[in-house]
Amino acid sequence: MAKKVIILGATGSIGLNAIDVIRSHRDEYDIVALAARSSKEKCEELAREFGASSYVGDDAALRAVGENEADICLVSTVGLSGLRPTLDAIDKGMDIALATKEVLVMAGELVTQAAKRKGVRFLPVDSEHSAIFQCLPHSQDVCALSPSDTSSISKLILTASGGPFLDAPEDLSKVTVKEALNHPRWKMGPKVTIDSSTMMNKGFEILEARWLFDVPVEKIDVVIHPESIVHSLVTFCDGSTLAQLSPPDMRVAIQYALSCPRRLPAKREELDLSKIGSLNFRKPDEKRFPALSLVKEASAKGGVAPAVLAAADEWAVENFIKGKIRYTDIASIVSKCLEKAPENACDSVEAVFEACGWVERFLKT
Ligand code: MG
Repeated sequence: MAKKVIILGATGSIGLNAIDVIRSHRDEYDIVALAARSSKEKCEELAREFGASSYVGDDAALRAVGENEADICLVSTVGLSGLRPTLDAIDKGMDIALATKEVLVMAGELVTQAAKRKGVRFLPVDSEHSAIFQCLPHSQDVCALSPSDTSSISKLILTASGGPFLDAPEDLSKVTVKEALNHPRWKMGPKVTIDSSTMMNKGFEILEARWLFDVPVEKIDVVIHPESIVHSLVTFCDGSTLAQLSPPDMRVAIQYALSCPRRLPAKREELDLSKIGSLNFRKPDEKRFPALSLVKEASAKGGVAPAVLAAADEWAVENFIKGKIRYTDIASIVSKCLEKAPENACDSVEAVFEACGWVERFLKT
C-alpha cells in the first residue's frame, strides 16, 4: 500500500524536491495534503496533479496536519513556524521527515520526548543527518532517536562546504546580500543559504544532530569539505569511521527519509570518484565564523538559550536581507542576545515562543 504523505512547505526548495522524488514513485507514495505559506497558485497546481488537498496561508501547516491522516509528515517550513504542526503530527502518530532544523534547535527536548512517547520515527532530511543516519545501524523500526543506535558512537563528524566566503578576504563587513545568497554547492531557500554562509547553519546542525541521535555536543565535530561529496561521517568506538557519499543533490536524502530502510531506484548522476580526483578537508575557522562558538555557548547555557540563538539569527538574517544591517552584524546581534538571554527552562511550546518574544522586544529597543 502506498504511504500517505503530507508536505508542509510544499513550494519551497525541499518541498519541490520531495514532490519530484514522489513523482517518480507514484505507486509508493500518495500525497494527501500540501501546505504553503504563500505561492497559492503553485500549491494548487501541485495539489491538482497529485489529487491532494491544498492549504495556503499562515495557518496552512496546522490545518493540513489537523484535517488529514498520513503515515509521514514532511516538515520543510521556514523557521519556528514548523514547531506546532510538528508536535501535532507527532500527536497524531505520524512519522516525521524533518527538514526544518529550527524545530530541533529551539525545542529539541520537547519534540524528541513527544516523539518517543508516541513511538513515531524521526527521519532526517538534512543531507548531513541523513548521512549519519545511513551510517548507523538501523532496521525497520529502529530509527533515529533510538539510544541503542548510539552506544557505539565515538564521534559524529558533520561536513560543511564552507559557503561562499571560505577563502574570501578577511573583512566580511562589506558582504552584500547577493554575495551571501550565492552558495557554491547547494540551491536552497534564502534563510538557509545565508545561514550556510555564516556557518550558523552548521551550528544549528550540531544541535539537530545532538537531539536526533542523542549524542552530546562535545562528541560532534565539524570539518570543512568544499566539494560536498562526503555528507558526514560517524566514528565508532572500535576506531572505524563510516561515511556517506553522493553528488550534492538533496533528493538523495529526501528519498531515503521517505523510503528507509529500503532503497528505491533513481535516475540520478552517480558518483565517479576518478572524475572528482581529490577530496579536501580542513578545520573551520571559528574566529572568522563565530557562529559555531555561539552555538556551543547556547548549548552549554541550556534552557531557552538555543531558542534565543535561533530567534535572534532569524531576526538578524531577515534584517540583513532587507539591507538594514551589515553582514557581520548577524553574529554580533546573536551574541548580544545570548549574553542577555533569560535563564528559563525550555519545557513547553509557550516557553519557546516566550523566548522568541523576548528576542523581538530586546532587539526593538
Ligand atoms: Mg545541511
